[in-house]
Order: sequence, then C-alpha cells, then structure tokens
Amino acid sequence: MHVRSHPAPDRRDFLRHATAVASMAALPRWAWAGVTLRHDPFGLGVASGDPTSDGMVLWTRLLPEGPGAASGPLTVRWELADDAAFRKIVRRGTATALPELGHSVHVELAGLAPDRWYHYRFLHGDAVSPTGRTRTAPAADRMPERMRLAFASCQNWEHGHYAAWHHLVQDEPDLVLFLGDYIYEYTSPAHTRGLARVQTLRHATTLSDFRDRYTLYKSDPLLQAAHAACPWGVVWDDHEVQNDYAGTTGRADTHDFLALRSAAWQAFYEHMPLRAVSLGAQGLTLHRRLAWGQLAHIHLLDMRQHRDVQACRRPEARSAGAVQPEDCATLADPSRSLLGMAQERWLDNGLAQDARQQARWSVLAQTTLLSPRAYPSGLRATDTWDGYPAARQRLLHSMAGHALRNTVLLGGDIHQNYVCRVPADARQPDATTLASEFCGTSISSRAGTTQDKVDAIVRHNPHVLLARCEERGYGLADITPERWTTTLRAVQDPLRADSGAYTLARFVVEDRHPGPERA
Ligand code: FE
Ligand code: CA
Repeated sequence: MHVRSHPAPDRRDFLRHATAVASMAALPRWAWAGVTLRHDPFGLGVASGDPTSDGMVLWTRLLPEGPGAASGPLTVRWELADDAAFRKIVRRGTATALPELGHSVHVELAGLAPDRWYHYRFLHGDAVSPTGRTRTAPAADRMPERMRLAFASCQNWEHGHYAAWHHLVQDEPDLVLFLGDYIYEYTSPAHTRGLARVQTLRHATTLSDFRDRYTLYKSDPLLQAAHAACPWGVVWDDHEVQNDYAGTTGRADTHDFLALRSAAWQAFYEHMPLRAVSLGAQGLTLHRRLAWGQLAHIHLLDMRQHRDVQACRRPEARSAGAVQPEDCATLADPSRSLLGMAQERWLDNGLAQDARQQARWSVLAQTTLLSPRAYPSGLRATDTWDGYPAARQRLLHSMAGHALRNTVLLGGDIHQNYVCRVPADARQPDATTLASEFCGTSISSRAGTTQDKVDAIVRHNPHVLLARCEERGYGLADITPERWTTTLRAVQDPLRADSGAYTLARFVVEDRHPGPERA
C-alpha cells in the first residue's frame, strides 16, 4: 500500500487519509507498514476488562483487510495461558466476529482461579494478535494485602501524545479505571500550532464516523500497550457522543440526536472490553460494580445517560456553561438528578451492601468532581455535580447514612487534578469530612483555564487541598487494608510520545480517617 497525497473520500480509505496528515508527528507503526495493515486484522490491539474473581472479558476487533473485504461473520480463535509463550494453555475457544458489531470480539471467561495473572491472544488465519496480560480479582471473602489501581480520563488526540499510558504501564497496575472521554468527536482545529498531531476525520455523527474515530485513537501503540497490560473498567463521559449532552438532550442543531447517540454508544461497545450484559435493548448499561475481595468495592457510575438536562441550559449553546444560582431557580430543583433516580437507588443499595459486607474501601468511580467548587465570581458550573446540588446532597446523605468504613471518590472530566476533603454537607465546606476525593487530570486534553484562576478557587474552597491544571498524566492508588496512597503522576511534555514522567504529589488516607493528607 502506498500513501496517496490526496486520498479519495472513500471511508474505507480513512486509515491512509487520517495518517497522511498525522504523519507530520510520530507515525503509528501501522501507518507506514501499509502492507502489514492489509493482512494484519489485529491492528487495533487487544484488551480485557471487568474482572471478577473467576473471569473477565477479552476483547479485540478485526480490521477489514481492504475495501470490500470482510463483509460477513469471521471466526476468531482465542487462547488464555499461564505463560507468555502459550505453552501452558488454560483455555482456548472460538468466537464469531459479526459485521453488525464492526467485527468486534468480546469473549467472557468464567471458572478461572482467583487472584491470578494470565496471558491471552487471538488468532485469525495466519495472523496472531499481540499478547495481552489480564488477571482475575481476589475471591470475595479474602482481604488482599494490596491492590494497585490506576485511574485516567480524557485523551484528546490532538492535544497530546500518550506518554502517560507508557508510564502507567511501567507502574504495573492491577486494574485501570478509565473515567470518560476516550475519544473526542471533533474535527482537528484549523490552527494546528501547539498541537501534538492532527487527523482528517469529519465531526463524528454516524456509526461509521465513530468506528473510524475509535480506529484512529486505538491505532496509538502506547494506548494499545496500556490495554494489553492489565484489565480495565471503563465508563464514558460526554465526548464519546457529543460535548455536554444530557440524557436524550443534545445540541439543538443536531437533527436527530437520538440516532447519533445510539450510533456512538454502539461504537463504544464495539471498542471496549464490556460484558454482553452491558448491551441492552435501549442502549448500554454501564453502571456496575467491581470488587477486589473485601479490600475495595468499586462502583462505576454512568453520569450521562440518565441525567436531567443542565440547569438553565440555552438550547443554542455549544456547552452547558455556568450560572449565578439566583438567576437560575431550576438549579435547586430537588427532582433533578445527575445519575437518574434508578441509578441513585442502585448506588444507595450498593453502599448498604458495602457496609454489610464490611468492604474496607468503597470506591465511587464517577466521571467528574463531586466536591463543591465555588467560583470567586459566584458562578456555578452546570455540567458537574455543582449543577445538581440536590442530587449531590442525596448522595452525601446516602454515603453518611451507611456509615461506610472508608469512601474514596475518583473522577475526571475537568482535566485538572483536584484533591479534596469531601464535606458531609456541600453547602458547608467546613462541615465534617465524609470522604476523600481524587479527581484526576487528563491523559492529554488541555484544561482550558490558568493556574492563577485555579489558585483563586483553592483560596475560596477550604476543602480543596490541591488543584492543578497544568499537568497531564494519571493517578495511581496503592490500596492496603490500613492505608490508601494516591500518587499523581505527570508527564514532562505532553507533545512528546517519549516524554518522561514525574510524581506531582502524593496523598495518604488512613483507614477510618476520611480526608487525604499530603505525604
Ligand atoms: Fe475531557
Ligand atoms: Ca463537556
């Protein structure tokens, strides 16, 4: 295959099309290894996810071998082994990759030994996929000595290379929580100065657009390596569909938002290591739990699908924005929900169960900042929990009511590191500390604010212990029965795929002592 300078506008040519421009920056290997691409169906790598004590999901997606090819169902073989050389095969089988699901493959395994690492790969014809590592969780009744959890979000293609993923792999986590904005739906900006790379895909609105977008993002070798390193638990935020969408409400200039949304959701499923149970008749069910024995019970939350529309949102606006509370009576309406009432009840039941089962750490893997963030101007952001104050009070009340042993919130969305003492009453930031919050910065997406402004917010919010907008990176949580340690990792230069990384800050939460302390 040769790269044409003016590719035909054929969608199936998009790999060439997208990378012709992207090649100005670091070229993904498949972009120049064009002949290999034609014959390597595993160009998007492998992944695993949603581990239980006896299984997990293995994922891959077969790339078409060329225009017009691969139109029917394809059979894929898979292998799970104790060793990287696949001498000691534990399980093997076949799966069918359906064109209706973009030839994605989701293999669910059960009956494996708890608390064990495995290797896996897929085979199709002569092609063998890269090898992935995955693992089972410890048994439900065990108290593991430690777990290393990584959390990350927001990987805008243009804003940065994925050195953060490289360093995350070196840190050898047991599980990665991805907290939203896996893709961004936009076209590349017209002004490319300061960008790490550009692409030529159109603004995503159709199923093939979204498939192309995931194919582009997943072409990145550092992202592929992070998927291959350990199982992930993924949730989405808005950009997997459209900026600041809320439930069934999208931008007013999108004729058929619901068609766009279902196309986007399907593409999300096709590209993520999700269980079939996630795939419902109406869309995807993403709120679910993962458990690491009795050490950590993780509640993954869907904060887009079921939310009420942002308070006082203007239909023509491109984003939800912020309001003065006195100008927007809707803000305080107690009937409004961010999770939706059914998911609120599900979470409340789950926290009650954590208390009964004596989970050491209850983890809420949500997608934005829970702690209040009062702006000095008096404005409130309407797309985050600040825009749903009554729903937040209900959640805080639920957390307090179950007298959980320890509660830690993880989040993303704001492209900034926020470390907070979560007050029991969001209206009184100096109230008793109920929980600890680590809202992580982005893998690559820019913050869109300045550190001066963020520093002013910190001075205005005594429960905010750290807020930084200038770093890109990820969070690591080292969890033991006695202590939770969060390490905020940052890359030196987000514009370089080979950037180094450093530790920005480290915070500790002691068992039964809510609130992070700087270590
Ligand atoms: Fe984002
Ligand atoms: Ca947004």
